[in-house]
Amino acid sequence: MKITVVGTGYVGLVSGTCFAETGNNVVCVDIDQEKVKAMKNGQIPIYEPGLETIFKRNIEQGRLRFTTSLEKGTEHGEIIFLALPTPPGGDGSADLSFILKVAEDLSKIIKSYKVIVDKSTVPVGTSEKVENVLKKNLDPSLFDVVSNPEFLREGVAVHDFLKPDRVVVGTSSPKAEKVMRRLYAPFVRQGNPIIFMNERSAEMTKYAANSFLATKISFMNEIANLCELTDANVDMVRKGIGTDTRIGKRFLFPGVGYGGSCFPKDVQALHKTSQDHNYDFKILDAVMAVNSRQKLIIANRILNQFNDNLEGIKIAIWGLSFKPSTDDIREAPALYTLDVLLKNNAIISVFDPEAMNNVKEIYGNKIHYAKDQYETLEDVDALAIMTEWNVFRTPDFNLIKSKMKTPLIFDGRNLFNKKEMEDLGFLYSSIGRP
Ligand code: NAD
Repeated sequence: MKITVVGTGYVGLVSGTCFAETGNNVVCVDIDQEKVKAMKNGQIPIYEPGLETIFKRNIEQGRLRFTTSLEKGTEHGEIIFLALPTPPGGDGSADLSFILKVAEDLSKIIKSYKVIVDKSTVPVGTSEKVENVLKKNLDPSLFDVVSNPEFLREGVAVHDFLKPDRVVVGTSSPKAEKVMRRLYAPFVRQGNPIIFMNERSAEMTKYAANSFLATKISFMNEIANLCELTDANVDMVRKGIGTDTRIGKRFLFPGVGYGGSCFPKDVQALHKTSQDHNYDFKILDAVMAVNSRQKLIIANRILNQFNDNLEGIKIAIWGLSFKPSTDDIREAPALYTLDVLLKNNAIISVFDPEAMNNVKEIYGNKIHYAKDQYETLEDVDALAIMTEWNVFRTPDFNLIKSKMKTPLIFDGRNLFNKKEMEDLGFLYSSIGRP
């Protein structure tokens, strides 16, 4: 099939590449000229495991192309995906300006029937807004607007896209439904469902999914905090509840709060939708409040340890991305921590396997960028672990101890066994353990 993807970020690039991988002919459109130039030269702009191989293969085989011209892209695709940013606006609602602008541009250049698919995360009612914008310049017989929210997880995005648990498609057009069914058939051969519903329900499904997962995280962080106060051990509680199939084992690890480009903004946007409908969605208030507190838990512990005076205190940070296996640092708890430590004049040395360049763009020479995790530790007063990259899981503890001024570790991801750490002579603080 001929597909166009407008917006080549984490979602658009993964979608476009995976559609090409299943034999489709894909053109990706982006306004970022540098990015498009680099991609045309086979350079991949993001780190996502497994993506580079199929990105290069599909470029070489001519199924994946890039352009800055929406017009050329539109001419190509029978299906046009919008994978555009929907950042939080000033009032917390999703900013739809990127989507509506492209819809308006499309309305002036579409000449034959297109299925316009919204893959961005957008509030209930957005499909109708896009449709209304298109209708201003375009005969309604020339398009259908479909909502097809994306559930991929950064870090395992290629796997998630190629083998989705489910595909959600919101459309009331039988013609568009047929096109979408054909497009996704190769991705659900094992029997996972393509769930068709109306546009509004599809839009709500995405927010419900992300808000539910954020709730699970905040709930577990609350349990962890309470475990600390009651001398219970969250590791055991997690196992105790996770084995109940109604609860499930995943998303029960306590930590430093959720970050990333999705959960924070999507919970906020759903909250705003509730407000707009005069509905008091109390759980979401709590989820957001818990997360705001939790993402500063390590910074506050460090401040507490040094009596609120970090002048001249040297701190190492392991992990900067909002989760492992991605270079994405948007809303990463590590950066919130970093900001507090810097504000208090701590001297910071950091390491992350993939996110260093992105962090450098923001912090420049305010912090030291180490070449590996051990280099961060020279003479430091404490180590803070913010992201659970695999490479941090079984480190050389003797080397760590020999380099640090004080063997003090604040582990925001509970990577190590508490008893073993204490036996090794570390002062070890983790989340939700007695
Ligand atoms: P992103 O910021 O990584 O990428 C957006 C891309 O759109 C950028 O490359 C930007 O240059 C481009 N762009 C902006 N305006 C444009 C225009 N007028 N024409 C062409 N290109 C334009 O965003 P993302 O993380 O891929 O997210 C996109 C959407 O998907 C958001 O709504 C997000 O909530 C949703 N989503 C994201 C994820 C995720 O894990 N990142 C998962 C599911 C859903």
